[in-house]
Amino acid sequence: MAQRIVDVLVPVALDQAYSYRVPAGMELAPGDIVSVPLGARTATGVVWADGVTVRPGLHNRLKDVEDKLDIPPLKPELRKFVDWVSGYTLSPRGMVLRMALRMGEHLGPAREKVGVRLVGPHPKRMTAARNRVLALLADGMVRAKSEAAHEAGVSAGVVNGLIDEGALETVVLPPEPVAVPPDPDHAVPEFTDAQRAAADTLRAGTTKGFSVSLIDGVTGSGKTEVYFEAVAETVRQGRQVLILMPEIALTAQFLGRFAERFGVPPAEWHSQLAPRKRARTWSAVATDEVQVVVGARSALFLPYRDLGLIIVDEEHDPAYKQEDGVRYHARDMAVVRAKEQNIPIVLASATPSVESEVNARRGRYTALHLPERFGGQHMPAVEAIDLRTERPPRGRFISSRLAEAVNVALERGEQALLFLNRRGFAPLTLCNTCGHRLACQNCDAWLVDHRFRRRLVCHHCGFSMPQPEKCPKCSAENSFVPVGPGVERLEQEAAELFPDKRILVLSSDLVESMDRLRQELDDVAQGRFDIVIGTQLVAKGHHFPKLNLVGIVDADLGLSNGDPRAAERTFQLLHQVVGRAGREEGRGYGYLQTHNPEHPVMRALIAQDREAFYSAEIEVREKTGYPPFGRLASLLISGGDKHATEQYARKLAAISPLDDSVRVLGPAEAPLAVVRGRFRFRLLVKAPRNYDLSAYLREWLAEAPKTKGTLKLEVDVDPQSFF
Ligand code: ADP
Ligand code: ZN
Repeated sequence: MAQRIVDVLVPVALDQAYSYRVPAGMELAPGDIVSVPLGARTATGVVWADGVTVRPGLHNRLKDVEDKLDIPPLKPELRKFVDWVSGYTLSPRGMVLRMALRMGEHLGPAREKVGVRLVGPHPKRMTAARNRVLALLADGMVRAKSEAAHEAGVSAGVVNGLIDEGALETVVLPPEPVAVPPDPDHAVPEFTDAQRAAADTLRAGTTKGFSVSLIDGVTGSGKTEVYFEAVAETVRQGRQVLILMPEIALTAQFLGRFAERFGVPPAEWHSQLAPRKRARTWSAVATDEVQVVVGARSALFLPYRDLGLIIVDEEHDPAYKQEDGVRYHARDMAVVRAKEQNIPIVLASATPSVESEVNARRGRYTALHLPERFGGQHMPAVEAIDLRTERPPRGRFISSRLAEAVNVALERGEQALLFLNRRGFAPLTLCNTCGHRLACQNCDAWLVDHRFRRRLVCHHCGFSMPQPEKCPKCSAENSFVPVGPGVERLEQEAAELFPDKRILVLSSDLVESMDRLRQELDDVAQGRFDIVIGTQLVAKGHHFPKLNLVGIVDADLGLSNGDPRAAERTFQLLHQVVGRAGREEGRGYGYLQTHNPEHPVMRALIAQDREAFYSAEIEVREKTGYPPFGRLASLLISGGDKHATEQYARKLAAISPLDDSVRVLGPAEAPLAVVRGRFRFRLLVKAPRNYDLSAYLREWLAEAPKTKGTLKLEVDVDPQSFF
């Protein structure tokens, strides 16, 4: 007998869709979301292939589709996007699908919210509590049951009793909308000429299909206000907008900003939404109930009903790269999605990635420049403090010139920020007697002294321990000394240099909650602290009106780590941090403590010559064939046994397909040679710019020996991290 069969992709680490039988009476089309048996459990999957096929013969081994879920099907363009991302990143299709299906585990219909209303006569038995409820509801209005109980100050049982006795009736409340439609004309600013020109270009672009624009302007130049015009125009057309942010913290801050312009906040999407809110938002995006979504990178995989525009804010931010599971770069994949859907995409940054800058310079992207801060404030003046000639005293990290500048700022009643991108007290603890260094047991890394927590901590695996009393090597007592600074140590020094000043340390490991962090940032903005000592946590997004002085304690910190993007990253980070100064009054000042004031990054920051930095960096990349002038992929081989891991890496390298334009480098021990007890070897693959590296890797890995035991092979196309 003929049997109807359908191919269903399930969100597990598999590339292939599985075939299932379609029970009689069930109608299925591609994109439909179904539940299917998968091993011993039930999984939510998507009808992937061309739909139902009728195949003769016996299919006894196939299982039946259990159910067709009552949620909108995945549209062809999203399915195609899943296929594309999977093919590009070499991640199993099922794992990419999983990102598109993250609508919360509990699908099903939403729990109904029940309201109550006064209807009947008062019951015979009255109590003070019952009286309060009836008095509250005497106005005849419907209130949610839980609210009625809360407002009357009674338990839910009291309200239930009144329902049972007929004094109140229950009413099903309509679900709260996920988002109220934004009003594109709510508060349109008066634009400067440069802003208007950029906004006009973007607005015109909303009807012209695929294009990439790069808004490049210093912080405070109005990039957000400008791209809001494209958002407004798209909303007017009744289409949806996705605004991507690199971090959840920025997403939260952005809500208020959006509401000022559009009257209401947008819908939010990130990993910390409550499951029910997730499910509701997911469906609301699919049904067009939501017009604008602001979200972290996973928002790219939402099932938009009619996506009309994508914005990628802070497009250069490394946080756009997902480093586990499916390794994808959300900015790059956003461009792909925009191209697939034939819609415009806008990238915004004060310090564009070199990749985007090259595209803009070559005319592949439309470049929109906003050269000035809104309100005309100057960018901070920057000068270097050469640590070779102005060395701070031994064991100190703040030079006397920087200390003097901080004093002057504080005397004027202003704030100062001391920036050091290093958590903890000291990055290294050393025995003064024998020179032994305290290292992690599981990783090839020093333990970082965290004095607030009184622990030595490994930043790679999380291992921690109290400082030992004796040196484990020579048994000397009280012999440990901290080497190098972290923000906690800097606080100690600042407290001595600037007595009686209010000092706040901001570092991700000290953040107790997002609310607390927001409160602290607000305290800084209100002037309740004099000195802020911070890691990159303070680099972006915040506006501190009284902050005019920024001191970079170790400007060289990120430059020497062997990452091909080290210079770019350092430039971006330091530019951003220095840009915190003088936002309100425009007389900001930045000091860079460096051993290398001649480095192109330092020179560009001091001369405020962005173009010089990009030109120099682009030249280096071009010469060395690094992105965007060449392509890279990294294969990380790790395992519990060093010899077996290295052997496997060698074998893998030996069978790489011959291709004149591809170079396979390594295997070499990764810079972090051991993490969590696993030995790590890396192969780096270099290819020319337009080469199909994914296809090359696929051909290669199809021949790779199976990874056995603890061995693991991780593929990273366009890697951002080289540790
Ligand atoms: P960016 O995104 O480049 O950092 P913003 O768009 O956030 O810049 O603008 C910086 C500040 O200046 C914001 O408070 C913004 O509301 C204000 N602003 C920018 N342009 C205008 C304008 N044309 N009219 C009024 N306020 C503006
Ligand atoms: Zn460790």
